[in-house]
Amino acid sequence: MRVLDLLKSAAKQLQEAGIESPKSDAEWLLAAVLNTDGTNLYLMHERRLQPDERARFDAFLSRRLKREPLQYILGICEFYGFEFVVSPAVLIPRPETELLVEKVVELAAEISSPRIIDLGTGSGSIAVSLAKLMAKARLVATDISTAALEMAQKNAQRHGVAERIEFRLADMTQSETLSSSKSFDIVVSNPPYILETERPSLQPEIRDWEPAAALYVDDDGLKFYRYIIDYCYRCLRAGGWVACEMASQRSSAIAGLFRAAGFHDVQIIKDLAGLERHVIGQRL
Ligand code: GLN
Repeated sequence: MRVLDLLKSAAKQLQEAGIESPKSDAEWLLAAVLNTDGTNLYLMHERRLQPDERARFDAFLSRRLKREPLQYILGICEFYGFEFVVSPAVLIPRPETELLVEKVVELAAEISSPRIIDLGTGSGSIAVSLAKLMAKARLVATDISTAALEMAQKNAQRHGVAERIEFRLADMTQSETLSSSKSFDIVVSNPPYILETERPSLQPEIRDWEPAAALYVDDDGLKFYRYIIDYCYRCLRAGGWVACEMASQRSSAIAGLFRAAGFHDVQIIKDLAGLERHVIGQRL
């Protein structure tokens, strides 16, 4: 079968499986098999696949038809213009989180060698991007999952910033384990913030494939912010900032927690979809 026909047939199957962007997914998968990019793929429309290439493509396609996220199949994901390796051990970095990185860079602008801790680093997307963007920053990146920390470390090495990031296996709910350092300038986190009760309404790519520990929280959904606040009072210097991602439905409650805890200049920041997605505040 020619590349063009294979793309058409794959896109049709993906569409029938209810996948949002069937044509572009088919192209991504085939480009990965042929070790090329989307533009070059157009120049290959008349080419015929070798049997081993066809077998690899079929394997990729059947994974995608089971709603496995494209990023896990390809093993990579772009975040803030940097390429990260990802696996089902980590959350796929999201475009809205890029805004959180941007905000932290702004908050750190006046500090010559900022000391930053990223709680629940996952793939390391936030910590590694910050290290790339600020040559003098020193970071601590924590996660409760060994597999996630390994992935974050791999990403730090890949981007040449591993010597400026200390990786720590730690549980956000045990704030004394996070880091003993008392003088962070910024605490940043994209904690789990989806309620277990919201889980059934998520698309299968998230619900069935992404790590539950990275996504869900029980009770009122505010638990991790309470631990983050507690941690800020242990380890954030006076005048330092906290910056978190959050569920837009709970933005006022979360901002309220920071205000009630005595944070100054608490601001809610909207994402590109206009949703109240991030909160920042300063420790007095
Ligand atoms: N810090 C990572 C990210 O923002 C992982 C977050 C998480 O696993 N909750 O992509």
